[in-house]
Amino acid sequence: MTSNLPTPSIAHRLIAWHADQQRDLPWRAAPAGQRDAYAVWISEIMAQQTRIATVIDYFTRWMARFPTLESLAEADQQEVLKMWEGLGYYSRARNLHRAAQVVMAEYGGEIPSSRAELLKLPGIGAYTAGAILSLAFGQAEPILDGNVKRVLARLWDMDRSIDETATTNELWRLAGEIVRATPAGKAGEVNEGLMELGGLVCTPQNPRCLLCPLADLCQAARNGTQSERPVRTPRKRTPHYQVAAAVIWEDAPLQGRLLIAQRPQKGMLGGLWEFPGGKQEPEDADLPATLRREIQEEMAVEIAVGAPITTVQHAYTHFSITLHAFHARIVSGTPQAIGCDDWRWTTLDSLDEYPFPVTDQKIIAVLREPSDTLHID
Ligand code: SF4
Repeated sequence: MTSNLPTPSIAHRLIAWHADQQRDLPWRAAPAGQRDAYAVWISEIMAQQTRIATVIDYFTRWMARFPTLESLAEADQQEVLKMWEGLGYYSRARNLHRAAQVVMAEYGGEIPSSRAELLKLPGIGAYTAGAILSLAFGQAEPILDGNVKRVLARLWDMDRSIDETATTNELWRLAGEIVRATPAGKAGEVNEGLMELGGLVCTPQNPRCLLCPLADLCQAARNGTQSERPVRTPRKRTPHYQVAAAVIWEDAPLQGRLLIAQRPQKGMLGGLWEFPGGKQEPEDADLPATLRREIQEEMAVEIAVGAPITTVQHAYTHFSITLHAFHARIVSGTPQAIGCDDWRWTTLDSLDEYPFPVTDQKIIAVLREPSDTLHID
C-alpha cells in the first residue's frame, strides 16, 4: 500500500510550477484545458514513443497539410503515411486517419468529449482519452504516460514494478486522486505539469530534486531511492534477424524502372512501400537464395540476384534486423501481389511519392549516390 500524500497540495504546486516552467511548444498555443481537441490529439499521438524535438517538426508540417479533422478524413491514406514517414509505429497514422473518418461520419466532425465515446475510436486508449479530455475540454480526467509514471512511482517510493498491472492500476488511481484534488478547470495544467516535471526535472537519470516543487513531499527523495525508482521488470533480450531485400530493375541496375511492393494493411508497417524480400531462413541460408525464395513466394517471379547495395541496421521494439539489399532482375514470370497488397514499376526519381520505412529510405539514399561499379549476374 502506498502512504498518503496531500494531493491538493501536489496539484497546487504543479499548477504554479507549470505556469512558470512549461515549454513553449507549437501545440500549446492556448492554455491547457482550452485547446483545440484535434491539435491535442495529433500532438499526443505523435509524442508517444517519440522525442519532443522530433515531434515539433512533424506536428508543424502535419497541421499545415491537415489543419482540420475534416482535411485529414478526406486525405488519401498514402499521403497520410507519407506525412508520417520516419516517425515509426505507422499504425498510429492509419488509426488517426480512420478515427478522423469515424468522427466525420458518426459525430458530425466534432471530437467527442466523453471518455466512453473517445475510447471507441481507433488508436485512442486511456492515455490519449485523458489528454484530450483534460487538455482540450478541461475535465478532471487523469493521464498516465512514462513521465507521469516515473514521477508518481518516486513520489510514493513504490517498490513494485511499474510493468505489473496491479502497479499500473495503483498509478492510475493516484493520478486520478491528484487531478480530482485540482481546482475546477485546472486539470489540464496539473496533467501537463506532471508530464513536464517528468520530462524536465524528474528525469530517468539524475533527477534534479533541488529544483523540484514536490521535493519535500517526495518519499523517494526522503529515502534516497530516486535512482532505484521506478522499478522495472527486466526485459528479455530481443531477437536479431538477418533480412534480405531485392531492388529489382526492369533493365539494368540504376537504369530505367525498379519494382516496389506495398506491405499488407494489417500488420507491421502496413500500407508502406518497400523493396520486397524477407527473413533469412534457416539462419545459415545463403542470402541470395533467401531472396529468390521470398520473391517467388511474395510475387511469383524468379529473380537473378546481383551485386550487394548496402547493409542497414535497425531496431524495432521487439526485435532488431540487419537488412542486406541486393540488385536483382526478373528471370521469368510477371509480378503478382500474393504476399503484398500491390506492386509498381517506378523510377528512382518517383520514389519520393511513396511512403517507405526508414530502412528502405536508407537503401534509396545509397541508390542515389553516384556509382559505376555495379553489375548483375
Ligand atoms: Fe522526482 Fe526528485 Fe522531485 Fe522526487 S524530488 S519527484 S525524485 S525530482
